[in-house]
Amino acid sequence: MRQSVQPDHPDHQNSTRQHDIRILCAQIIPATPSAPARPCNSPALRGQPFCFHHQPARRNLPDRDQLRAEKRALRAEARAQIRARHDFTLPTPTTREELQRAIGQVATRIAANQIDLRLASRLLATLESACRNLPPFAAPEVG
Ligand SMILES: [Zn+2]
Repeated sequence: MRQSVQPDHPDHQNSTRQHDIRILCAQIIPATPSAPARPCNSPALRGQPFCFHHQPARRNLPDRDQLRAEKRALRAEARAQIRARHDFTLPTPTTREELQRAIGQVATRIAANQIDLRLASRLLATLESACRNLPPFAAPEVG
């Protein structure tokens, strides 16, 4: 015989009381650089103070908020590296010696993997062009 539980039946009231989705997770999400600490606010599991993600059985798993913070830190580090590889200034070379020094600075950065290779290529092409525009070497004095 199939039994159905009516909404006004005591069994139904018990089950809804045990699984009240208005009971929210008690976990406090720690503050981040962009957001203050806040409650989780997800519905708590039946008869427990925490939601699925914050239940004690999952405590030993990597914390998703911590993983997000680690990913954010890695992205910030990658952005800083990209910025450092493009943030490069050379003094304007006006003599052959200064041109040699500028080419040496670019070559040193290429060797140390501290410059974007496309930027290095453009800089070297520009320096080569500047070198062609300089007057030729003075003929050595014979005497
Ligand atoms: Zn939670």
